[in-house]
Amino acid sequence: MSVELSIEFFPPQTREGVAKLRAEREKLAALKPGFFSVTYGAGGSTRERTSAIVKEIVAEGFEAAPHLSCIGSSRAGILELLDEFKASGIRRIVALRGDLPSGMADPGELRYANELVEFIRDVAGDAFQIIVAAYPEWHPQARSPEIDLQNFVRKAKAGANAAITQYFYNADAYFHFVEKVRALGVDIPIIPGIMPILGFSKLARFSDACGADIPRWMRRTFESYGDDTAAIRAFGLEVVTRLCERLLHGGAPGLHFYSMNTAALTAEIWRRLGVR
Ligand code: FAD
Repeated sequence: MSVELSIEFFPPQTREGVAKLRAEREKLAALKPGFFSVTYGAGGSTRERTSAIVKEIVAEGFEAAPHLSCIGSSRAGILELLDEFKASGIRRIVALRGDLPSGMADPGELRYANELVEFIRDVAGDAFQIIVAAYPEWHPQARSPEIDLQNFVRKAKAGANAAITQYFYNADAYFHFVEKVRALGVDIPIIPGIMPILGFSKLARFSDACGADIPRWMRRTFESYGDDTAAIRAFGLEVVTRLCERLLHGGAPGLHFYSMNTAALTAEIWRRLGVR
């Protein structure tokens, strides 16, 4: 089976981190991903670092998709960045609202991702393929699942070409989301975001904050392993590989891995899936 793979990095803060990411990227390049994406700190905190990494990826001969969040930014600032991306050979952007960093009061000129998508289409036409975020378990701030769904449709209709989901460990949530979206007439590919499991306590804290559910049976199993990192790694690999298999058999158009700048787990899951 042939499956579109994409892999996400975050921009490291130190020179050592950048060098380590280069080495991890080299290992992941062997999987021949469709593109690597690089996150962007809301409010522009990683602007230079995100740009530097995507340019490096393009120079290595791979497709790179910078993430771009609009919260706390001006139209002029975003336009400047879009021009820079275009000049660097970037053809794909992950367009997000982001979350206003603490201490920053001004939400800026574009308040939601649908407004950013509209803005990119207005100023750049079809120069970029635009990918947006999707939430099969619903965005944590959404007033209701129905409203969140309508807001997702708004982003698609504003001109998004594809979506990548927040990570989840319950395949039914993904299938339910896709079914609801299709019933509303939206047919863009919705690519599952996959979070390999490096350790449990950090993942549990992060999942609570971003609204991703870790099912009770998984939570209890991880907790029972205590500090046994080998057991946690083995169980994490098993459940995430099985999740990917279910998603692909159920028609998911590809997989997007949140690599956390580490190659080993993503590469191992990909190997176990046995796909090209
Ligand atoms: P929106 O789509 O704008 O939605 C945000 C909330 O507002 C939702 O509750 C929605 O229902 C509601 N809403 C949407 N549109 C409207 C409207 N027009 N009127 C009223 N309400 C509305 N964060 C980063 O800071 N940097 C990154 O690089 C990054 N990458 C990500 C990549 C992926 C694949 C995903 C899934 C998330 C990523 N995030 C990133 C996190 C994301 O920024 C947060 O989840 C943020 O809270 C929402 O961004 P969004 O683009 O989904 O927002």
